[in-house]
Amino acid sequence: MTNNLKVLVVDDSPTFQSYVSALLIDAGFEPIVFGTLAETMAYLESEPSLICSVLDYCLPDAPKGEVIDSVLQSGYRAIVLTGNADKNLREELLKKGIVDYILKDSAVSLAFLVPLLNRLVQNTNKTALVVDDSPVITQYLTELLERQYLNVVTASNGLEALEVLENTWEVNLVITDNDMPLMNGLELTQHLRLNKTRDELAIIGLSASNNPDLIPQFLKAGANDYLNKPFNQEELYCRIHAVLDMQDASEQLYFLANRDDLTGLWNRRYFFNFTDQNPAPFKSIAMIDIDHFKMINEQFGHNGGDHALKSIGQMLNTAFSSALPARFGGEEFVVLCTGNSDVFNAELEAFRNELENTTIHYEGQPMRLTTSIGVASGEQSLPQLLKSADDKLYAAKNNGRNNIIY
Ligand code: GH3
Ligand code: MG
Ligand code: MG
Repeated sequence: MTNNLKVLVVDDSPTFQSYVSALLIDAGFEPIVFGTLAETMAYLESEPSLICSVLDYCLPDAPKGEVIDSVLQSGYRAIVLTGNADKNLREELLKKGIVDYILKDSAVSLAFLVPLLNRLVQNTNKTALVVDDSPVITQYLTELLERQYLNVVTASNGLEALEVLENTWEVNLVITDNDMPLMNGLELTQHLRLNKTRDELAIIGLSASNNPDLIPQFLKAGANDYLNKPFNQEELYCRIHAVLDMQDASEQLYFLANRDDLTGLWNRRYFFNFTDQNPAPFKSIAMIDIDHFKMINEQFGHNGGDHALKSIGQMLNTAFSSALPARFGGEEFVVLCTGNSDVFNAELEAFRNELENTTIHYEGQPMRLTTSIGVASGEQSLPQLLKSADDKLYAAKNNGRNNIIY
């Protein structure tokens, strides 16, 4: 679904149509625009694949929100644009099962549209675990979360939740009731925080208890947020968006800090963090240095050199089945073997050979590159291994380049 970025926009005002379309195009979505219910229905008959629809409540041939029912009945999701936000209308809209509504009163309100659509797209890759001993509430929460494109798994108490977490590939968000048999929500939260940070796994506590101490207890146990039951659907959505947005921002920050900008490989910082956390004995380390790279820059310019490094980064990324390749600096890479050493050595030779036999194209010009590699192994400390691999790399250079010294 994430590849499909078509958004149906239905509004009878041409000014509004072009304003919303521009917002969507700017954000990388593809707006499909209509002005009436009739046109919209004719379009939906072709069963298009849409990420969502953005619907004006009042249309010339559908003055009372009829387009919303029609779109929802056709199995599509809807965000409603309305000039009027009185309580009755809001409740009527939310009851219909829309994703959310947005006020048409100003550009500020409309600025919520793109972040909301982005959130929905991101949510398709997120899984929420609902933990509640009441099947009715579990069912209700599941529906609400699925409406926001989240994948949902459920458990009826804390113990069962731990089991579900163990057996589910990746859960990003836990919404847990407190009063449950076997293990309550507070205990579950404390347990989960033993090995998952607030960024890795968001937890929202939920309880009908009128004990005011429960809120600080949940938050101090490590919950990201807390909601009283019965909760307001809009508030639930706002809080879920906030914790998931935070999770994405922290993931992005981690990526920026640990990946090399140019090649997308892990950087030096990640390499040393990884080796700190997974200490010796290391099986093998290879230092890889591109031959005569200065000449590549001289011949093709710095951008040409960058292009070559990106291509080499891609090759390194696919060259190893159980090893960690990282950009060490400049045109130098390091690969830490985490699996079988014989396989590793064969993969290094395959990489050297592949690079030698690959023509990289830059602005229509062919580029040929080779690499020299030094490989160190044995019961040594990381600095010793790196030094030894570097010495061997130096020997490989002196040996005529385009070769590996073990
Ligand atoms: P050798 O075979 O001995 O390794 O020769 P070399 O020219 O590859 O080695 P040297 O270390 O003298 O030069 C490396 C060059 O790589 C110099 C530097 O300008 C270039 N380089 C380092 N980082 C980058 C980069 O990010 N982009 C580009 N385009 N060039 C870079
Ligand atoms: Mg070099
Ligand atoms: Mg170098």
